[in-house]
Amino acid sequence: MGKIYQLSDELSNKIAAGEVVERPASVVKELVENSLDANSKQIRVDVEEGGLSLIRILDDGDGIDGEDLETAFYRHATSKIRDDHDLFRIATLGFRGEALPSIASVSKLTLKTSDGVEHGHEIRLEGGKVVHKGTTGARKGTEIAVTDLFYNTPARLKYLRTVHTELGHISDVINRMALAHPEVAFHLTHNGKTLLQTTGNGDLLRVISAIYGTQVAKVMLPIEGETLDFKVRGYIAKPEVTRSNRSYMSTIINGRYIRNYPLLKAVQEGYHTLLPIGKHPIVVLHIEMDPILIDVNVHPAKLEVRLSKEQALQELVTSSIKTMFKQTRFIPEVSRGP
Ligand code: ADP
Ligand code: MG
Repeated sequence: MGKIYQLSDELSNKIAAGEVVERPASVVKELVENSLDANSKQIRVDVEEGGLSLIRILDDGDGIDGEDLETAFYRHATSKIRDDHDLFRIATLGFRGEALPSIASVSKLTLKTSDGVEHGHEIRLEGGKVVHKGTTGARKGTEIAVTDLFYNTPARLKYLRTVHTELGHISDVINRMALAHPEVAFHLTHNGKTLLQTTGNGDLLRVISAIYGTQVAKVMLPIEGETLDFKVRGYIAKPEVTRSNRSYMSTIINGRYIRNYPLLKAVQEGYHTLLPIGKHPIVVLHIEMDPILIDVNVHPAKLEVRLSKEQALQELVTSSIKTMFKQTRFIPEVSRGP
């Protein structure tokens, strides 16, 4: 008799959840990414007790078809890619079909959705099992409420930090999403109190102001650059306003917030000797490129990507920043007086 068994769906979802759902902020990230992929223009995120008692995401996106509702919770079930060809040209934030089954397997979750034409549909899962299905109203979009996160994975629950820490991670996630999508109105609340609200009018500088404050927004300079392969635009802070870590340098490729150390080096290189030693600038860069040039299939929860023309992109980033500083040198100082 053999000893090898195929694990049940339930168990394999829980195993996947170990990677995908590290903490409440991972749930927020996955659900907001889904809302963005569904073309939402307004995304509201309500969190209670650092996400431990409630995470609720409300969007005005395309919604999920009634017939897809249960399938959406199957492992590797996605509407975003179909074959190899698609995998190497990913234009959406999600594509693995792992988030919903993973989240559902370690929580109690209710999803309501409608395309805004017909009445909507509702489904409730507990520990990955469907416990209720029904119909709801026809408000266009999707609402997902996650409670009792990690109730059935005691070790993970114990590993969670304070409400304050978990909320900090959630805030970081929403800030990044808002910087990456100025065309979407985000509203984040914690225990009923608004923490961030953006207008969704497409103005990146306004989002920067909402997140980092008006003083920072005032010292931001617009940059722009383009080659055949890449388009770079965004804002960089004047070198007199710096931070002591790199977390204020945001790089966004095709609407996805990413972390790429060589790219950050390229930014610093653009500032050259203008930055004090050990200090880092505040930067928000939007980079557009053909999806064929970027491999996002690296890790479900991490921000790393692989770029095929990395060096050319670095050069463009550095030169765009240098060009900006060369131009601003010709602007006379404001407070010179008569
Ligand atoms: P992925 O995003 O990788 O496709 P998920 O498990 O996150 O996988 O979601 C499964 C599917 O459920 C998605 O492909 C999408 O079709 C649907 N879906 C999830 N969330 C939403 C949403 N907020 N609005 C519309 N469709 C959604
Ligand atoms: Mg997803």
